[in-house]
Amino acid sequence: MRRTRQTKILATLGPATSDPDMIEALFMAGVDVFRLNFSHGEKADHKARFDAIRALESKTGRPIAILLDLQGPKLRIGAFADGPVELEEGAAFRLDLDAAKGDQTRVRLPHPEIFKALEPGADLLLDDGRLRLTVERCDEASADCRVAVGGTLSERKGVNVPGVVLPLSPLTDKDREDLAYGLELGVDWVALSFVQRPEDVAEAQAIIEGRAWIMAKLEKPAAIERLEEIVELSDGIMVARGDLGVEMPPEDVPVLQRDIVRSARRAGKPVVVATQMLDSMVDAPVPTRAEASDVATAVYDGADAVMLSAETAVGAYPVETVEMMDRIIQRVQKDPYYREVIEAQRLEPEATTADAMSAAARQVGETITASAIVTYTTSGSTTVRIARERPDRPIISLTPREETARKLALVWGVHSARAPDARNLDDMVETALHQAKIDGFAESDDRIVVTAGVPFGTPGKTNLLRIARLP
Ligand code: PGA
Ligand code: MN
Repeated sequence: MRRTRQTKILATLGPATSDPDMIEALFMAGVDVFRLNFSHGEKADHKARFDAIRALESKTGRPIAILLDLQGPKLRIGAFADGPVELEEGAAFRLDLDAAKGDQTRVRLPHPEIFKALEPGADLLLDDGRLRLTVERCDEASADCRVAVGGTLSERKGVNVPGVVLPLSPLTDKDREDLAYGLELGVDWVALSFVQRPEDVAEAQAIIEGRAWIMAKLEKPAAIERLEEIVELSDGIMVARGDLGVEMPPEDVPVLQRDIVRSARRAGKPVVVATQMLDSMVDAPVPTRAEASDVATAVYDGADAVMLSAETAVGAYPVETVEMMDRIIQRVQKDPYYREVIEAQRLEPEATTADAMSAAARQVGETITASAIVTYTTSGSTTVRIARERPDRPIISLTPREETARKLALVWGVHSARAPDARNLDDMVETALHQAKIDGFAESDDRIVVTAGVPFGTPGKTNLLRIARLP
């Protein structure tokens, strides 16, 4: 089975998409990576979806990536005694540690660390930024605030503190438990929510120990300040526009999106653009024109993947949404200007063997219009470096490792497949030609470019490039 799309589709599973037949329909419509969002649902729900994806993978013989998304330190207020309260602009409102139920004048914020980090003048955003409070006075157990933007506030709503680096680990106790559970299941990618510093990524790395690739979600202003370092440490990056758009003014989001995509691409780290991409399709069978344009923008920017959240998790038209996203991506890819843009964004290879080989493979592949660039990889890193080149030719990635094949399903332009390691040169060419043929990339007389590392059978650097022709 062959897909011709270069930009991948990541879809979130939820109550609307838990049935194995539905998961299969989403995959057939174009999903390359599924997200299990641990901010919602029970472990058993996620396990059922996980099992359905793995069963589908066996059925189709195509590697599918599974991303576990950890909730992270999302702050929430407590409950109110008599239901939602109305906060008027200019009124006083207090947040504290008191377990008593809240009212018009106060509510619990059960996070002592936050009170320690707050300072007068700091802004607190409630309910996805709909309400805003300004801190006037605070101590270790409470904050007296003034309502800057009022509205209705109901219990358990989220709290964002944009301007302050919070002394919080990105991994709560729940996250640690969910992570252990997900690693036991065998997820391929782990997404870290509300990353603030590179140390947050390092902390997750120490627990994950290479069992999954780490995707840092950029949704805090503090993280943007240390973008390069966070990108360097992570295996992938998500432009998490939902929370980023709450913490930052909306006009900053498109600019930051480009910044983040560019940084990730420069470092050769797969990057995902996420949230509200086709949001109106949660309850309508067609998107707005602006949403179609938003998806197209991410594709022109060269993102590795675009993500669906509520659209597929709880929406009324999950399959239609994936089909629409697939069509928008395919349409952009046909535009000659798309290729021009991608060429114009071309990055210099770094001074490494891997990059020299990747640049050469792209150039040879494009010069002879090879049917595919076939790359042997063990860890997946060679494939990721070739994808960084954004070649105009399909990339077929061959690896003996199942877990590597799955992770690479997220990467731009990569057709990931499993194949045994080559034992010698003939074997290497033979297997590459065979795979290109059975997966529909090459026919008789077509040429392919093959890269591998010798000596064969030992994981190591790619140092060999061959051109081969199908008989
Ligand atoms: P979420 O992350 O859907 O887990 O909140 C994405 C975002 O904030 O955009
Ligand atoms: Mn988020």
